[in-house]
Amino acid sequence: MAQTKRRRVIASNWKMFKTQAETRAFFSAFAPLVAGATHCDIVVAPPFTAISAAAEAARGSNIAIGGQDVFWEKEGAFTGEVAPPMLVEGGCRYVIIGHSERRQSEETVAKKAKAALAAGLIPIVCVGELLAHREAGQTEVVCEKQFTGGPGALTPEEFSRILVAYEPVWAIGTGKTATPEIAAAAHRFLRKCAERKFSARLASALRILYGGSVKPDNIQGLMAEEELDGALVGGASLDAKSFAAIVNGCKAP
Ligand code: PEP
Repeated sequence: MAQTKRRRVIASNWKMFKTQAETRAFFSAFAPLVAGATHCDIVVAPPFTAISAAAEAARGSNIAIGGQDVFWEKEGAFTGEVAPPMLVEGGCRYVIIGHSERRQSEETVAKKAKAALAAGLIPIVCVGELLAHREAGQTEVVCEKQFTGGPGALTPEEFSRILVAYEPVWAIGTGKTATPEIAAAAHRFLRKCAERKFSARLASALRILYGGSVKPDNIQGLMAEEELDGALVGGASLDAKSFAAIVNGCKAP
């Protein structure tokens, strides 16, 4: 497969942490620590209620804001949901879709990704197996199913505008990181799925982030793998110094 130089991305997922005041305090500490980081794109995904505060605090910086989920309709009687144009209005450029804590089905992942793209957002589409799948030797079967029904259901043009995050569910919030070799093998497999479904060119340009207990002390080992184009970080993204160490530690060797 032709090798393309892919720009790395370090994205956070704050989940249900941080008020608006805590968000502003985070940015005051974090923005100066990563102001010189030109080697990767940086994304912070706060809870919906803190998106505007984050966008305001990040204005003029190299930090983009993302939503943690989105709905596929523009408006309607959908209690608790947030529409793509609402995220854009709040200042988001990115949106996480299909996180294991939110995923319902491959079909809804594809609908959300299409709607997000139509609004100009960059979806970060998550896929990843449970521990039971890995132990049963089903990792590739599960990842292929999630890929085919989710990102694989997009048009080639839509697909060219998304990021994929490989997040083995057994590594999320557990402190158990996939080894760089395990992560790289899964990324290679997902890239093969992309090549089979779309083309070698699109597969080679696709940025695949790894997510699952990424920390300042394991980012360099993970990023030594060429297959890994960045990281999606939960717990370790809540602290400004720790997230900055991950951003600054993701430089290609
Ligand atoms: C996540 O929630 O996407 C995640 C990767 O969490 P953590 O880094 O805490 O494992």
